[in-house]
Amino acid sequence: MSLSTNPSTLDQPKLRAWLGEQAESLGFDDLRITDTHLGIASERLQEWLAEGRHGHMEYMQRHADLRSDPQLLVPGTVRVICVSMNYLPPESDFDAEWQRLEDPSQAVVSMYARGRDYHKVLRNRLQDFAKAIEEKIGAFGYRVFTDSAPLMEVELARKAGLGWRGKHTLLLNRESGSTFFLGEILVDVPLPLDEEQDEHCGTCQSCIHICPTQAITAPYQLDARRCISYLTIENPEAIPVEFRSAMGNRIYGCDDCQLICPWNKFAKRSQLPDFAQRHGLGQASLLHLWSWTEAEFEQRHEGSAIRRIGYSRWRRNLAVAMGNALASPKVTATDKDLIQKALSESLSSADALVAEHIEWALKAYN
Ligand code: SF4
Ligand code: SF4
Repeated sequence: MSLSTNPSTLDQPKLRAWLGEQAESLGFDDLRITDTHLGIASERLQEWLAEGRHGHMEYMQRHADLRSDPQLLVPGTVRVICVSMNYLPPESDFDAEWQRLEDPSQAVVSMYARGRDYHKVLRNRLQDFAKAIEEKIGAFGYRVFTDSAPLMEVELARKAGLGWRGKHTLLLNRESGSTFFLGEILVDVPLPLDEEQDEHCGTCQSCIHICPTQAITAPYQLDARRCISYLTIENPEAIPVEFRSAMGNRIYGCDDCQLICPWNKFAKRSQLPDFAQRHGLGQASLLHLWSWTEAEFEQRHEGSAIRRIGYSRWRRNLAVAMGNALASPKVTATDKDLIQKALSESLSSADALVAEHIEWALKAYN
């Protein structure tokens, strides 16, 4: 990066206002600016890693030094433009989400993943944003990121003032709760800084109490190895047996700690068609998704974040949820017969990972 713009020649308040307007016109819902000093957050990350709470996310350990300092990641960076983008599909309804979690024959996919892959959506718009800034102020050094590099993006967003860190460790704010994605542009221009927000969790501990696997081990402490989002998405191995029942019918991610959060009564629906749910993922049954062949999985999840976990993990997760349906008194004998038949018929062609989960699931059939 090289500083090619003389910041003193820019009208800072006007530029700041223009940045906000430009972000809005590109579909972002908020924009804040911070510097690169992460302070104590870097030490906390090191402690979290040292305790092994990142599980199999080795990439977090590999780049821990870069993660703790954006200036190491992109030399010359002096500011981080942090943006948020609401992701709730337009048709999402929290009451309906709770009802589906109570129906063991349904397959629950985390709301953020029901539309297009947010990495692509945000990245393209961040690039457009950076180009628009370049047209406005002249050539400058920058790089865009969204959950795509060793960057403490939640901590940067917190410091920039996009929200505060809830006791579930996600960022949230009073205007739109926590259902938004984050993106960043690291720049070498000393743009005006924004201020941090106050915390507003107060005495609430709802997210801690609702967590099915007790993954929030204390306020602001998440053990990823226990978290259903990690277990169903990042974890490449077998789902530990101790967490399988608690997974219920969550087959990709988990929203419970966000659904329960009182601030999410202010959660905003996305205006972007990209985040509208695809292939009925908000209403699908376990049996319907289990019926997808690998080719159908690949084709229907094209352009979706779900495709990245691959067919085997997808089936692994479904098998656990189907085992939980077989064990549930809420599922009728007829539906259990159908689930048992579907699992049994798939056993001989399943890979070792999926076969072990099918066998576990079938033990619940009676
Ligand atoms: S996503 Fe689910 S499992 Fe993970 S911390 Fe939140 S409630 Fe717990
Ligand atoms: S549920 Fe309560 S404690 Fe958890 S993030 Fe929301 S306000 Fe904070």
